[in-house]
Amino acid sequence: MSETISVNGTITPADAAVVSPLDRGFLFGDSVYETMRTYGGRPFLLREHLDRLRLSAERLEIPYERAPVAIEPEVHRTLAAAGLPETALRVVLSRGRGPLGYAIEDGGPPTVVIHARPCPQMPAGNLREGVDVAIVDVTRNPRTSLDPAIKSSNLLNNFLAWRAAQRLGAYEPILLNLSGRLTEGATSNLFLVHGDLLAGITRALVLELARGAGLDAVEESLGPEALRAADEAFLTSTLKGVLPIRRCDGWPIRHGRPGPVTRRVIELFEERVQAETKAGSAPGSILR
Ligand code: PLP
Repeated sequence: MSETISVNGTITPADAAVVSPLDRGFLFGDSVYETMRTYGGRPFLLREHLDRLRLSAERLEIPYERAPVAIEPEVHRTLAAAGLPETALRVVLSRGRGPLGYAIEDGGPPTVVIHARPCPQMPAGNLREGVDVAIVDVTRNPRTSLDPAIKSSNLLNNFLAWRAAQRLGAYEPILLNLSGRLTEGATSNLFLVHGDLLAGITRALVLELARGAGLDAVEESLGPEALRAADEAFLTSTLKGVLPIRRCDGWPIRHGRPGPVTRRVIELFEERVQAETKAGSAPGSILR
């Protein structure tokens, strides 16, 4: 097969997969998700992703335990059915079918969708030269709204930010919060490097690796001027890995070339991927 989907344990080619139009994931974006990828055919940081899926579900009171299939074995089954060399996986857990109103008592059980597709290749030029970002005027929703810590499939805010970046000719938008401070990209976390210091799941791993290598990694509140003035900056995500930023709002960051700290972090990340791929061991928890 190739692009393959499991819906509650029924595995079919992607275009034959069916979810009910009464599913609340479809009606309200009432679902949570994870994106994962394989390296060497094995899902990378699987335990961390499934832990975060469970936490997101708990925040929305979607009963993870009532899912009609056990998610971890189903991920492996779908991967095997897809039979791809490297796979990008999207796991969606929705509240399931429900009445049209907001009441949840008569709904469920949850729906589990696992989508396996060929892992997109990052163009080598993006890694070598970096990508352009733009600070957009779509703000990251505050915690008192739809909390960004919940990885929900209600992604229209991110989508609007991403479209705004596209119109500006940028690869990824950078969203500010309501106080005008830097937050993250539409599908990535943001790191800035000052001097030889440097400030998802890939993010947690990168922080662990950077600190392990003696780089002084801190998390702090910064304004957009900090990004424009950074010596180096990069994005992280499951599908992007560690991706240098070349320009912000058209202004080059560090002469528009990836700098030494970014290159070192890419090296550390690749070493970890190699080690995990060879050992096949489950990595320790990096979620904080
Ligand atoms: N921030 C947002 C808003 C995201 O959607 C993502 C990934 O999709 C990330 C950050 C990166 O997280 P991870 O490294 O877990 O893929």
